[in-house]
Amino acid sequence: MIFDPTLFHPSAILLIPAIILTVYAQAKVSSAYGRYSRIRSSSGRTGADVAREILDKNGLYDVKVEQVAGNLTDHYDPRVHTVRLSSGVYNSSSLAAIAVAAHETGHAVQHADGYAPLKLRTAFVPLASFGSQIGPILIIIGFIMSSFDFLLTLGIYAFAFAVFFQIVTLPVEFNASSRALAFLENSGVLSSREEVSGARRMLSAAALTYVAAALGAILTLLRFIWIAQGRDD
Ligand SMILES: [Zn+2]
Repeated sequence: MIFDPTLFHPSAILLIPAIILTVYAQAKVSSAYGRYSRIRSSSGRTGADVAREILDKNGLYDVKVEQVAGNLTDHYDPRVHTVRLSSGVYNSSSLAAIAVAAHETGHAVQHADGYAPLKLRTAFVPLASFGSQIGPILIIIGFIMSSFDFLLTLGIYAFAFAVFFQIVTLPVEFNASSRALAFLENSGVLSSREEVSGARRMLSAAALTYVAAALGAILTLLRFIWIAQGRDD
């Protein structure tokens, strides 16, 4: 971590709402996960069962379901067509486990469907990770050395890729959750209104973390623009 002198620029105030929302979203996910991982679904199906069921129902017999180490490490890997579930999700029949498994499997179904926002998101991964690393460094150098002013503009363009990525992530995540809930409701995996609403709360909390990340990226971009404009005056 390098020292960031732009934190003393008045634009740093924009980081406050982003930090508050991020902390709030993390707390909400932890509390929802804590609560709904203790409530078993009456169907008794585990996260792994539900993932397999959704894949088979969509004809995705070649997509694998595997266990992965860690907590909340669940994800779908499009390169090897594999849904990876943390052991707490894979082996558990809690509402939280079923909701997370169905959500991740939703990404596999999006992939198979050629869902456009997912394609766009995947295509932007390299540019976004480049932009999120390089952008802030260019801004810091341009901020410190006035003869390297042009780096401020370059940094803004680089970081804009990261912002775009965070924004495209939103429809991808919301859509995976709505596919998950539709399946859980219609297939009868979750049998009561209470079970469905538990799963919905779990997924809404998770979605909020993506909203917080997108807001943080947008505010950071605005901060960089503020810094660059201050330099023009
Ligand atoms: Zn997701």
